[in-house]
Parts: sequence; structure tokens; C-alpha cells
Amino acid sequence: MSKYRNPLLFLPAHIDQGISSFDVEVNPDLVGLEAYKFHAPIQCKLDFERIGDRIDLSMSLVAGIEVACSKCGKPTRIDIQTTYKVTFLPAADDEDEEITATDLELYSDILNLTPILRDAFLLAIPIAPLCRQGCKGLCPVCGVNLNQGDCNCDKTKRVSPFEELKRLVNE
Ligand SMILES: [Zn+2]
Ligand SMILES: [Zn+2]
Repeated sequence: MSKYRNPLLFLPAHIDQGISSFDVEVNPDLVGLEAYKFHAPIQCKLDFERIGDRIDLSMSLVAGIEVACSKCGKPTRIDIQTTYKVTFLPAADDEDEEITATDLELYSDILNLTPILRDAFLLAIPIAPLCRQGCKGLCPVCGVNLNQGDCNCDKTKRVSPFEELKRLVNE
């Protein structure tokens, strides 16, 4: 286990040849994810496979966050679960080798998995989260939450932003 406070920092020399696994809890603030509202620390499983200086990592993470429903805006808990694979090679050995694969990283004195976790997390967040399957969203005319009941607006008639502005000015 890492002797550093950040459980995502490893000394390459401390990673055994062959397979080794670590379960770590990661404080979201440590990874630069303080913009998200977490329910608990990120649970992270690290599976290393080391052959010589080449280190393959499979990182699995689980995290519960609160986001706004993309249709009605209701605060909604979603669970992020993802696995991210990356290969590390020592920097010194690859000076004249072109690194083109995106899942290839170089390491020197310290194996820092912080940016890996950050990327894995950000890639796993849904673009348009919903509070429930088939959320009806808000009425485009009066703004009422249609999950909680209907309104009498004519929703087939789209209100132009200009009309809406005129209405507000005249009110
Ligand atoms: Zn919703
Ligand atoms: Zn309405």
C-alpha cells in the first residue's frame, strides 16, 4: 500500500511483479472533482499486472453523485460505475519511441493515478441524466413540473423568447 496520503500515488518499485490488487477510498477533493456533490468517497479497485517495467492497470470505480435531472432539474442521485484500463511504461526507456496510443502513460519516480481516476470518472458521467425513466420535464409555457401534474397550457404552440419577453415587460 502506498505510504503517501493520496492513495493514488505509488512508487513503481513497490508494485510487485505479477498481479497485485488494492482497494482504496478516494476523497473527491483530492482528485479535483469538488464541483460534483458526492454521497461518499469514491470506491476504487486497482488491479495491477506487472511484467518487468511494464505495468498494466485496470481501475474500477464506484461513486454516487447528485446531479440535476436534464429535463426537470430535480436533484437526482446517480451511480457512476466504470472500469478504465491503462498501460504504464518507464519514461527513460521510451525517449525515442513515439507514444501514440492514448491508453499508454509514462512513469518516472512516482506512479500518479490521480489524473487516470479523474478521466475515468468524467468519461462515465451521463451527458443527460434523468430523475426517472420517461421524465416528462417542465411545461415549456408555464414551467410546471409535468411529473407532478398537468397544466392547461397549449404545449403544441411554441412561445418565442421574444413573445415571452414582451409578456414579462407588459406584466
Ligand atoms: Zn426529471
Ligand atoms: Zn403549462
